[in-house]
Amino acid sequence: MSILPDVKVCDALVIGLGPAGSTAAYQLSKAGLSVLGIDKASHPRYKVCGGGLSARIDLILEDDYKSVVEHTVYGIQFSYRGADPFCLDSSSPIAYMVMRDRFDHFLLEKARRAGTEVHEGEQLRSCRELPDGIEVTTDRSRYLAKALIGADGANSLVAQQLFPGRRSRRMATLESEVPIGLVPPYPGVGRALIDIGATPAGYAWIFPKQERLSIGVGDLRGGLASPKKIFDRFVRDEKGLDPWKVPQPVGHPLPVFNEEDLARDDRESGGLVNGRALLVGDAAHLVDPLFGEGIYYAVRSGQLAAESILNQVNDRCRSLTDYDEAVRREIYEEFRVAARMASIIYSYPYLCHRLLSRYQHIVMLYYDMLRGCETYQTFYARAKSIAKCSAKELLLQAVSFR
Ligand SMILES: Cc1cc2nc3c(=O)[nH]c(=O)nc-3n(C[C@H](O)[C@H](O)[C@H](O)COP(=O)(O)OP(=O)(O)OC[C@H]3O[C@@H](n4cnc5c(N)ncnc54)[C@H](O)[C@@H]3O)c2cc1C
Repeated sequence: MSILPDVKVCDALVIGLGPAGSTAAYQLSKAGLSVLGIDKASHPRYKVCGGGLSARIDLILEDDYKSVVEHTVYGIQFSYRGADPFCLDSSSPIAYMVMRDRFDHFLLEKARRAGTEVHEGEQLRSCRELPDGIEVTTDRSRYLAKALIGADGANSLVAQQLFPGRRSRRMATLESEVPIGLVPPYPGVGRALIDIGATPAGYAWIFPKQERLSIGVGDLRGGLASPKKIFDRFVRDEKGLDPWKVPQPVGHPLPVFNEEDLARDDRESGGLVNGRALLVGDAAHLVDPLFGEGIYYAVRSGQLAAESILNQVNDRCRSLTDYDEAVRREIYEEFRVAARMASIIYSYPYLCHRLLSRYQHIVMLYYDMLRGCETYQTFYARAKSIAKCSAKELLLQAVSFR
C-alpha cells in the first residue's frame, strides 16, 4: 500500500458508532486488526428509538449488555385504537428495554477497550475507492483503510457516495420520552403495549424504561399523511397515559426493508458490498418490516461484516461478498416472511387484533420467535397451520350446531 502524506492508515475504518458500527469495530479489534471508529456525535448521545430489543439478542450479544437493560418485558398488552385491550404474559423474557444513549455508549466503550481507536465529534465528508484502499476525508483528517464499514445510519453518506443508485424508502416515525418517576409504568411492570390500529399502516407503542416511558408511532408501509396527528390521537385515546404530560415527539426516518427496493438496488448498485466497502445496520436498510426492529439486525450485520473481513484477511481467496450472501441467507429470507405478515396485519388490523385475542397460542408462538426459539419462517408456517386447524374446528362446531 503506497501511503499518501498526512494520511493515517488502518485495516478497517468504521463510520458511525451506533450498535452496527460498534459491534463490527469490537469484533475486528478483538481479532487484532487496527480499527478506527468515527462518529459525528459524542457518546453517550440521544437517539430517537423505542429501545426495544427482542430477547433473541441474547443469542448474539455477550451477557454483559444486561448492565444497561432498563426493563425486562414478559408480556404485551395489545389494543386496537386504544380499545379492546388484552394482555398476554409469559414466564420468561420476550424483550429488553434500553435507552439508546446508555446502550450505544456501552457497545462503543467495549469496542474501545478491545482496541478500537475512537474519534467522536468527527464527521465524514467524503470517501472514494483508490487502488490501494478507501480514502476517507472527515472534517478533521484523511485516512486510508483496507476496508470501510458504512454504519452511519438511515441517512448514510457512505451509501450515497460508494453505492450510487441505492435509494431507500424511509418511513416516518415519531417518538417521545415521558418521565414518570418511581411510579409503576403503564401498561404494567414487565409489559409493553402495542396498538396495531392506531396508525393506518403500522403501529403505536409504549415501551417502559427506568422512570420513563417511550411512546411512539411508526409507519411501516409508507404514505402516512400526518404522523403528528396520529401520535396525538394515540396519546389521547390511551387513557392510561392521562396522569402524565407527554412531551412533543421527535421524528426520525426508518429505512424499512422492502422487496422492490432490494430488487432495484441489486440492479443499480449491487448488494451491500462494493469493492472494499460494506454497509451494515440502517445504512443497509436492515429494518424488519413487521415491527420496525432494527437494533438486532444492526448488531447481527455488524458481526457478519466483521466476520467476512476477517475471513478475507485470513484467506485471500475469500471475498467480502460473502457478507452480502450471509445477509441474504440469514436476514432477507426472514424479512420476506415478516413483510408477508405485515401486509396481512396492516391490511386487516381489526380482524387480526380479534384473531390474536382468540388464538392466543399464536401470540405465544410469536413470543418464542422473539426469544429466538423460532424464526419468522418457522413461526409463519406453524401459525398458518394452527389457523387452518382452528378454522376447521370452527366449521365443525358450526355444522354440529345446525
Ligand atoms: C422512532 C424509532 C423507534 C425505533 N424503535 C426501535 C425499537 O424499539 N427496537 C429496535 O430494534 N429498533 C428500533 N428502531 C430502529 C433502530 O433505531 C435502528 O435500526 C438502529 O439504530 C440502527 O443502528 P445503526 O447502528 O445502524 O445506526 P444508528 O444507531 O443510527 O447509528 C448511526 C451512527 O452514525 C453516526 N453518523 C451518521 N452520519 C455520520 C457521518 N457523516 N459521520 C460520522 N458519523 C455519522 C451517527 O451519529 C450515529 O451514531 C427505531 C427507529 C426509530 C426511528
